[in-house]
Amino acid sequence: MIYLFKRILKKLISIFTLLFFITTNNLKAQDSLQCGFNRDFFSPAYINWYQQAVLESSKPVQNKRSKVFRDTEFIIPVVFHLIYPQSNGIDNSIIGKIMNEINADFMRLNADSIKLRSKFKSRAGNARIRFVLVNQDPTGLPSNGYTIRFSFNSFGFELNQPINTWQTMKFKSSGGTDAWNPKKYLNIWVCNLASPTSGKTYLAGFATPPKYAPRWDPKYYADSLIDGIVLNRYTFSNSSRSSVLTHEIGHYLGLRHVSGDPPTNFFDSSSKCIYDDSIFDTPRVLHQNVFTCDTTINSCIEPVNDFPDMLENFMDYTGDNCRISFTKQQVNLMRYCLNTLRPQLANIEIKSIVKPDLFLVDIYPNPSKGSLNIDFKDSFSNNFSLVIHDYIGRKVLESRILEPKSLVNIECLSSGLYSIAITNDKSEILYRKSIFKD
Ligand SMILES: [Zn+2]
Repeated sequence: MIYLFKRILKKLISIFTLLFFITTNNLKAQDSLQCGFNRDFFSPAYINWYQQAVLESSKPVQNKRSKVFRDTEFIIPVVFHLIYPQSNGIDNSIIGKIMNEINADFMRLNADSIKLRSKFKSRAGNARIRFVLVNQDPTGLPSNGYTIRFSFNSFGFELNQPINTWQTMKFKSSGGTDAWNPKKYLNIWVCNLASPTSGKTYLAGFATPPKYAPRWDPKYYADSLIDGIVLNRYTFSNSSRSSVLTHEIGHYLGLRHVSGDPPTNFFDSSSKCIYDDSIFDTPRVLHQNVFTCDTTINSCIEPVNDFPDMLENFMDYTGDNCRISFTKQQVNLMRYCLNTLRPQLANIEIKSIVKPDLFLVDIYPNPSKGSLNIDFKDSFSNNFSLVIHDYIGRKVLESRILEPKSLVNIECLSSGLYSIAITNDKSEILYRKSIFKD
């Protein structure tokens, strides 16, 4: 029985990425998980694949096509599947807030990114990935970006429950909502993750990895119907800054925890800094740092170029007040995985190949309180337009640009992130920039 229990735990840990343990009550559960980490986690196949991917993604780009992929924005369509009790009103503004947050984090426009310690600044990476709420469902009907299923069910689990009980929210037949084609959409289920048996909630969220990440069983790969991210409803409704979804998207795009996930558990101090996430520019850490912003922590002394723990990294467990940054190589790996392992997911606007060095325009200030200066150097043409989209994909402003130096009033826009494009009269996008409206 104990063996079976251990096997189940092994399976659980090997397939899903555990995030936060939400209450102190649950620390006991966290302890009991320690036996769940296992050697399979670090199979040679896995390490080889992962390190190869890191190496590949770190190579300097040689040819034009690679440069396009390296430099271009990826655009990922997102659909939320909300599974809520009817009595609890759903505040749709939360979706806007969450979309703004993930877009800021993946564009390195999050306001708190300025808090990154100066020693890490040269390592900070901009993923250049945009997330846009879908405006059509798979059949072409209009969609506001989410589905709703009214349900009083809670979809959590006890840690000794088999893996299939973690997936009930992803199937209509078990009280949840079926995924939209996971190859083409990032599906995010939001539901009550409390266990119906004990009422405890163990996770704030979990994610499936990209296809072929060899740590995971093939039946859970990216094109299976469980592919995507699950968030606890209370994580989702959090009114303050939440970095949980950003962390989970990191996993969804191939990132591991900064600790390299020691095989005993995430919090084990006995691993003696052996394990690493294989990413070259994240400092080695002894274990995941849990809810601390103590910048004096330097849990592993590196023989060369020693750095303290990067508590600011989205793939640590330090919490919303600390987690504010990816590194350049984490960014490279996510883009590599997106490009090679989730090839149908992201749209790449080839027309929008931006050559900022050739197309000389300044758009400032950023953030802006209400007006934007658009200053063209020598590339102005009178067929240019300014098009602004918000981060759930709605066009909020379109205006012809009449002068090489123009002032655009954006006071009417609510606070948040916007994508600004300069287009020509063929609607080709010549230049794109993200700005934050204060
Ligand atoms: Zn995680």
